[in-house]
Amino acid sequence: MGSSAAWHLAARGEQVTLLEQFGPGHDRGSSHGSSRIFRLAYADPFYVSLAVRALPLWRRLEAETGRRVLELTGAVDHGPAAATSALHDVLRAAGRPAELLTPAQAAERWPGLLADTTALFHPEAGRVHADRAVAAFQQAARQHGAHIRHGVKVTRLSVRGGRAEIVTADERTFTADSVVVAVGGWAPGRLSGLLPGLPAMRVTQEQPAHFPAADALDWPSFIHHPGAGLADEGGIYGLGSDDGVKVGFHGVGPVVDPDHRDRTVAPRALAEVQRYAERWLPGVDPTAPVASTCLYTTTPDHHFVVDRAGPLTVLAGFSGHGFKFAPVIGELAADLVGGAPARGPFALGPPRAA
Ligand SMILES: Cc1cc2nc3c(=O)[nH]c(=O)nc-3n(C[C@H](O)[C@H](O)[C@H](O)COP(=O)(O)OP(=O)(O)OC[C@H]3O[C@@H](n4cnc5c(N)ncnc54)[C@H](O)[C@@H]3O)c2cc1C
Repeated sequence: MGSSAAWHLAARGEQVTLLEQFGPGHDRGSSHGSSRIFRLAYADPFYVSLAVRALPLWRRLEAETGRRVLELTGAVDHGPAAATSALHDVLRAAGRPAELLTPAQAAERWPGLLADTTALFHPEAGRVHADRAVAAFQQAARQHGAHIRHGVKVTRLSVRGGRAEIVTADERTFTADSVVVAVGGWAPGRLSGLLPGLPAMRVTQEQPAHFPAADALDWPSFIHHPGAGLADEGGIYGLGSDDGVKVGFHGVGPVVDPDHRDRTVAPRALAEVQRYAERWLPGVDPTAPVASTCLYTTTPDHHFVVDRAGPLTVLAGFSGHGFKFAPVIGELAADLVGGAPARGPFALGPPRAA
């Protein structure tokens, strides 16, 4: 999110310096790997409008950098009729293509996955290559004049006389009219007490797995909504990628401290993903998963925090579904820095209800 904000701000002619504590392409936060779902289908029309806006921005990023980042494969939602028909209605109301299918029709089109009860297909969905996207944001930001500095850890952030002051681990001090803080899983520790109205955030270590599939790159992204054949509360997501078919439970990992986590996958969590693959994904080899870990930073209502307080703009709490919106979040950040108000449910404010 910070790299996207750097791109938009630099493109608007601002003087931008991006500070990142780790090296390029690191895998210690939330934005690494080859695969994130892009989709328009959200029950809340506000998020549909953000995803619609993200589409041309992803394409602009690709045009500016010459890197392929977003591939549209379409998406299949399946599960209880209430979930699929609500999403269908929201998409159609927004004027976007979508079709409801029976499980048999879905199986004919995507023999690698079994659909549960009802299915919805929408074509304006697919996958974003996360590592390439972050590199592209930084390349584009640099092309517009931003300075990108890796291996620089911010140890102190304060506000003095209306300006923001940053101190780094190597004792350098930066002052700026505006600081955009986009520190992912480090947000609760870094921002508590600094920003009034910041919601509580849970940082969890999620544990998806990639499964071998001969046709991994031909898969749609998919979400299996709970409530019909799937009892689990959080639901399951998956998508094809360069590394196989990725499958994960949504937001069920253990709470962790991002600086002190083991980054190993619990055998029980891996066994559950394998059991799911065995039952619902005939197109993958369930015996050969490659598991990984990644951080979710989740707010009580799962809405993001994208707002400004004085010279600090905060981008946080992306609750396991932020990546697809990254180019829009950077654009909103640049708007906030320019004086625009927070949008929709993203404002700092009174405590959020779960
Ligand atoms: C397993 C998994 C699957 C996901 N799948 C999807 C998906 O399919 N679709 C989707 O839309 N979203 C998905 N998401 C969510 C999405 O990836 C995140 O919302 C997004 O990557 C969050 O980005 P971020 O910039 O907030 O955090 P990060 O990418 O973690 O960036 C924060 C950066 O701040 C740096 N930092 C922190 N503290 C300091 C400091 N003191 N000084 C300097 N630098 C610092 C960190 O090193 C880090 O690089 C998924 C997330 C996970 C974990």
